[in-house]
Amino acid sequence: MSGKGSNSGSCCAPGAGNDASRKSRFEMISVSEALRLVLTNTDPLPIRMVPLMECVGHRVSEEIRAVDPFPPFPASMMDGYAVCAPIEAGVYEVLASRIHAGDDVSSSSTSPSSSSPAVLQPNQVAYITTGAMLPPGANAVVKIEDTESPGLNGGGGAREKGDAFGKVETAVNIKVSVSKEGVNVRQIGSDMQVGELLLQTGQVIGPAEVGLLATVGVTHVPCYGKPIVGVLSTGNELVDPWQAPHGSQIRDSNRAALMAAFIEEGYTCIDLGIVKDAASELRARLQDAASRCDVVITSGGVSMGDADLVKPMLEELGEIHFGRINMKPGKPTTFATIVRNQAAKKASGKAVGGGGRQQQQNVLFFGLPGNPVSCLVTKALFVDPAMRRLQGASSTQCLHTQLEATVVGEAPLALDPERPEYHRAILTFDAADGSKALVKSTGFQRSSRLLSMGSSNALIYLPQGTGSVQVGARVSVLLSRPLIAPPTNGAISLHQAAALLDESSSSSSSSSSGSGSGSGSSGGDGGGNLYESFSSVMSKQHPSSAIAAASEAAAGTSSKKKAIMRVALLTISDRASSGVYADESGPEMARLLLAMHNDPDWALQVDIVKAFIVPDEPALIRKFIVEWVDNKLVDLLLTSGGTGFGPRDLTPEAIRPLLHREAPGIAQALINEGLKHTPLAVLSRPVAGTRHETLICTLPGSVKAVRENIAALKVLLPRIIELLQEGTCTA
Ligand code: AMP
Ligand code: MG
Repeated sequence: MSGKGSNSGSCCAPGAGNDASRKSRFEMISVSEALRLVLTNTDPLPIRMVPLMECVGHRVSEEIRAVDPFPPFPASMMDGYAVCAPIEAGVYEVLASRIHAGDDVSSSSTSPSSSSPAVLQPNQVAYITTGAMLPPGANAVVKIEDTESPGLNGGGGAREKGDAFGKVETAVNIKVSVSKEGVNVRQIGSDMQVGELLLQTGQVIGPAEVGLLATVGVTHVPCYGKPIVGVLSTGNELVDPWQAPHGSQIRDSNRAALMAAFIEEGYTCIDLGIVKDAASELRARLQDAASRCDVVITSGGVSMGDADLVKPMLEELGEIHFGRINMKPGKPTTFATIVRNQAAKKASGKAVGGGGRQQQQNVLFFGLPGNPVSCLVTKALFVDPAMRRLQGASSTQCLHTQLEATVVGEAPLALDPERPEYHRAILTFDAADGSKALVKSTGFQRSSRLLSMGSSNALIYLPQGTGSVQVGARVSVLLSRPLIAPPTNGAISLHQAAALLDESSSSSSSSSSGSGSGSGSSGGDGGGNLYESFSSVMSKQHPSSAIAAASEAAAGTSSKKKAIMRVALLTISDRASSGVYADESGPEMARLLLAMHNDPDWALQVDIVKAFIVPDEPALIRKFIVEWVDNKLVDLLLTSGGTGFGPRDLTPEAIRPLLHREAPGIAQALINEGLKHTPLAVLSRPVAGTRHETLICTLPGSVKAVRENIAALKVLLPRIIELLQEGTCTA
């Protein structure tokens, strides 16, 4: 088939001394072409009925529609009183039987808690709980908070008999009028109509979908099958992880890593062990695998050595679709299909009986390279899409999520002049600007260095070429593992207030340049040139909407009435603004201010309304300050960075001319706090003062110094803000 070059030769392993055998017989194809061949040779597995409690993670093979309406009866949305609208506010007689969820009060039946049917008469109301069936005659519900016992307003006297817990209520004061029918009532079918689409064909069943299926009583769900995958390692040098390697032996890490990946992804995984580089042993093991698995993964034995027997053996047993890909790492990756039982038939020359799996289904064989990194990268690039296709995903749904990210880290990424590279990396999101994806190399990329896969969740696509991709450039990234990293040091989340309870979240420091939170946009369904696109655009400044969101969320958490202090945070740093490293001092200022906000004994409520990162450019610094302060957007403006003696440390010079009144005492207080920790604090050159009614203070760039400075300001701010808001301090 298409992947092969001159495919007519023998299946023997290449031998030394034969020049033709020094060249691969397989045509070099692109990653996109290889993916196309994988997907076109992979059909969804047969459909089966899966019990409800086992269907999570499957794709449903046909659309599921509601056969009954939900709710199946008019149901109360509140604990309160069922009424017949329209009614005026006033005292009403309460029906003797209370109606609870589960009581059948339809006209045809009798309430289990009462011997008489619960039918509402004019001027009557009925106590009802959330989810209970409305009694005949009722069409609306008044929530309990809008009612009171008639005795309380002196209007009707006590209308209850019995003790406090076993009260029989005879009347209730409805405090609101209800003009419309249907208030606080879930009508029949209002959540789910008969015939409404619940699950689309091919949709992945998650917990919510299982809930929907349970609601409509689907206990066996038509699903595409889930592949059984077998994992086999090849190589004379390999021993099991629990064995002590001797001499030239090494432990087999590929099988453990691959199996772990499949188990994590929810597949049934068969351990096919280690096989020596010997044709007869390999043949027997592959035939056995074909009878038991839908997908067989081998690692090792696909390169150009005379002990690399996997390609010739797959050729003997089935059909190879490709055996060489223009990529790094993973060039010799091989993909073949074997019709189930054809393997045994081909080898023995006669038909064989059925094995454990379905007849006539293509078994997919992936011969992955032996180097541990190549093995995992090619598993992610080629096997993962095939696994999705087997489960009924469309071709575009099979592809990886792709996004653009800014390269962070210390060193540029060198391009390979011969092959496009899938460079292992860690994808996170900027702590201060959650919309900005950052990607950092895992370091030395040799394909045997498994450490370069450690924590990696992304592959940076580097095109073939000379030169390198600079830090700060924008690159295309494929997501190879789910984004699960929680926010780390300094990260701002909507629920920052909750994170503040966690000591480790405030004290742990992270060496990574960004912090993961949220999920990136996905280009995965777009198809097209996913695997060969590349761009390099520098991004300069970015608004910190995440900080504002955090502040908004925190604003609701404080109960006492406090004066509001609106704050703007400006990080001033060439390198943070160009993405060389993630801004840590901006988020730290925000975190500390929000902690003060949540301190019940602190007099102010903090509202962070602006947060931005700018380079050390005086004109730009002034532009933001003037815009925020002169438009009266903030009471306090804190900058961080640029207060030292470096050639680009220009923050005091940029800001001092903007101040209407300088406050050297505040600047001194910042230095004094620093002096408690280090005599070097005198080397910071802070300025503080007011412009209109806004206090401006310049903090150093280091996170540690930011903490000290904010501690100093904590004591001063309540009084300063009071003075400014009284107008005592205006220019
Ligand atoms: P191969 O692809 O068989 O030529 O092997 C390439 C390199 O990967 C060699 O250094 C092997 O020792 C190593 N290797 C092969 N299989 C494994 C495995 N299962 N675990 C760890 N290393 C392996
Ligand atoms: Mg080998």
